[in-house]
Amino acid sequence: MNKGKVILISGPSGVGKGTVVKEIIKDENYALSVSVTTRLPREGEIDGVNYFFTTKEDFLHRVENNLMLEHAVYNNQFYGTPKDYVEQTVAQGKNIILEIEVQGVEQVKKLMPEAVSIFIMPDKAGVIEHRLRKRNTEDEQTIQNRLHIAIGEMKQAHKYDYIVINGELEKCICDIKSVINAERYKKENMLDFVKGVLENDEKTLCQ
Ligand code: 5GP
Repeated sequence: MNKGKVILISGPSGVGKGTVVKEIIKDENYALSVSVTTRLPREGEIDGVNYFFTTKEDFLHRVENNLMLEHAVYNNQFYGTPKDYVEQTVAQGKNIILEIEVQGVEQVKKLMPEAVSIFIMPDKAGVIEHRLRKRNTEDEQTIQNRLHIAIGEMKQAHKYDYIVINGELEKCICDIKSVINAERYKKENMLDFVKGVLENDEKTLCQ
């Protein structure tokens, strides 16, 4: 069985990554990695579903015990990806989505150069601030911090393999799936298949 792909999705806070990812994982060929974080849950967030919420001590303990694939500090809080689930999911042939920020993407790309990184951009300026305010889940200081971080993140979009625009949700989902499909058919991923067919055909020819 072919291994699944590791798909790294980033984008500035408020670009709608969560919604995009939620739609993609409705397809049974995709799974979502649930991260560990030290930040407090937002209203409506569920432990084990949105994140594994934990303490700084527990987080650092997991890092020291090599249980994390990557980890980073974002807005003074720790975030990281548990290694086990990613490894098990790709071994089962499923694609796994990691919705993580840029420092984490760089770490994963070093370990797994075959991972596909996708940056989601808003379709125009001003959208991020509007969405962050509409969400109404953060205080003014947090919104300001997140806007600064968002601008810093968009400046790093060039580090990603693909940049996809989230203007219209359906189109964005379709574009991301196209990118993942195109990756699947790269020759590096197809040569084993070609070899299998060739070996059989050559055997038949020799008989
Ligand atoms: P939020 O607090 O809005 O849920 O997430 C803040 C940022 O952390 C987002 O950019 C999100 O993609 C990123 N993030 C979430 N989980 C992880 C993780 O496991 N590792 C890294 N590096 N970033 C993460």
